[in-house]
Amino acid sequence: MVGALADRHRNHQPPADDGPVQLRRVRRHQRLPGPAFSPVSYDWLVIGGGASGLTAAVLLAQEGRRVALVEKSPRLAPLLRGFRRGNFHFDTGFHYSGGLGQGEILDLFFRHLGVSERLRTTPFDLTGFDRVREPGQAEFAFPVGEERLEERLCREFPGQEKAVSGYLAEVRRACAVHPYLDLDAPLAGSGALFGLDGTSLRKMLSRWTDLPRLRRLLAVHTLLYGVPPEEAPFRLHASVVGPYYQSVHGLVGGGLALAEAFTARLAELGVDIFLGRGVRELLFTPAGTLRGARLEDETVVETRGCVATLHPTLLPALLPEGVFRPIYRRRLLALEDSLPAFTLYGVCRKPNDLLRGRNIFLLGPLKKGLEDSIYLTAADNGPGSGSGLIAIAPVPSGAVERWKDSVAGRRPAGYEAYKAEQAAQLVRRIEEGCPELGGIEVMATATALTMRDYLHTPKGGLYGVRHRLGQYNPQPRTRVANLLLAGQGVAAPGVLGAVLSGFLTCGEVIGHERLRERVKACR
Ligand SMILES: Cc1cc2nc3c(=O)[nH]c(=O)nc-3n(C[C@H](O)[C@H](O)[C@H](O)COP(=O)(O)OP(=O)(O)OC[C@H]3O[C@@H](n4cnc5c(N)ncnc54)[C@H](O)[C@@H]3O)c2cc1C
Repeated sequence: MVGALADRHRNHQPPADDGPVQLRRVRRHQRLPGPAFSPVSYDWLVIGGGASGLTAAVLLAQEGRRVALVEKSPRLAPLLRGFRRGNFHFDTGFHYSGGLGQGEILDLFFRHLGVSERLRTTPFDLTGFDRVREPGQAEFAFPVGEERLEERLCREFPGQEKAVSGYLAEVRRACAVHPYLDLDAPLAGSGALFGLDGTSLRKMLSRWTDLPRLRRLLAVHTLLYGVPPEEAPFRLHASVVGPYYQSVHGLVGGGLALAEAFTARLAELGVDIFLGRGVRELLFTPAGTLRGARLEDETVVETRGCVATLHPTLLPALLPEGVFRPIYRRRLLALEDSLPAFTLYGVCRKPNDLLRGRNIFLLGPLKKGLEDSIYLTAADNGPGSGSGLIAIAPVPSGAVERWKDSVAGRRPAGYEAYKAEQAAQLVRRIEEGCPELGGIEVMATATALTMRDYLHTPKGGLYGVRHRLGQYNPQPRTRVANLLLAGQGVAAPGVLGAVLSGFLTCGEVIGHERLRERVKACR
């Protein structure tokens, strides 16, 4: 069966303890006849209830600000929640992360946010959390821990010791100067932090080694953020892989557990939540001061400040003409998306534990670089998981362009045939590359259109904005006082990147040094 991910709300079984306080508040707002006014005026309104918006809402509420959060989807954190098919829960936006080891950066962020006591981490395979399979080569396993990684790479590539240690030292250095990855790093002006300049990953790798296979292995994690190595800024790559080289964990209960932990925390903090209707426009006084937001059901929410975590290209449409300078507006609108992908959610009937605590990268011939790669992960890495699997394969931009005007649930037959064909091909390639995974049954598939419509992004690129060299990188501050940006498009992709962006942006409000001190106090 090839299902559509878009209708997964139906299949998701909501957690029993879904925050009664929150639901009461939501209902109170929903009863208001439209056009309506929210009964309170807020200090901050957060647009978007993904990892970054949840982080921003908690941080601001913890500082005693009156906060409202608006999420266009019917449930908070749609990307993190995943969905259910039959007996299997499929995670969508969270499988594993670096930085979750005790006292590491994401662990400290979660502690400061007050969500860590509701979360239980589960370590990935220390001997090989990510395993790379290439035609004609023995499997290469990335071990957890930088020293072990260095040792293994040196063993695999004799004569490359200097290259391996030199390159890994560059990664370390890049992370060590990042004030929100290393809380002891000097605090540079945050404006300069995320400029997408400097050296590309490909150039950095070429500086250290001319072995194509070593270069490809060290670039394989670009697949986690959908930018090819020649376009990926080395600094960004280092900030993504650096934490993975330290430790690798999943969460018991996956992304859903994270969504629930945040939901409970927001309820504790009294954050008001508006679900199932997005922000349609931001409202300003005649003097140009932000005063509120109008939601899609006409409710007006008064606020003095706003953190927008939606895809940055969607922001200009929420503002009256002339609020942003034309050049800034053009820059936002011109942001490209990360590479789209075809995702398959399946069940492997042949008993195996290949994906338990580890992922597989299936690569094509060396000369094809990272084209034709497949990333495979388990549907559930917690105890008692079945053998559900998720396969993500990047596809060329525009692969589903011809169906872009169709809507979820009513896509044409040609689109369904395309998905069935892609799924069949993917299953063939997975079973060839991983004979352990025989008898794969397809439970659901997703294309860029699925992601676009489900996550309310313009094009459905898997990881939001394409963080590529030469492209403008949105900063937390906009040209409008008290209108800030956060999200994976601002800092870096991944749950760590999105959470970090919440800290970076709220640091502009709370004070970076003060905020970093508070996080340090969680050590
Ligand atoms: C298939 C897949 C697998 C992934 N696997 C991992 C992984 O293993 N580990 C990892 O660390 N990361 C992973 N990621 C990346 C990670 O999930 C994201 O980087 C992160 O969750 C993004 O959070 P965000 O808050 O920036 O964006 P989002 O979660 O997209 O949040 C933005 C929110 O804004 C809402 N919105 C849009 N418009 C409006 C509006 N007008 N009004 C109100 N709300 C609006 C959207 O509905 C959305 O919920 C994965 C991503 C994908 C797609």
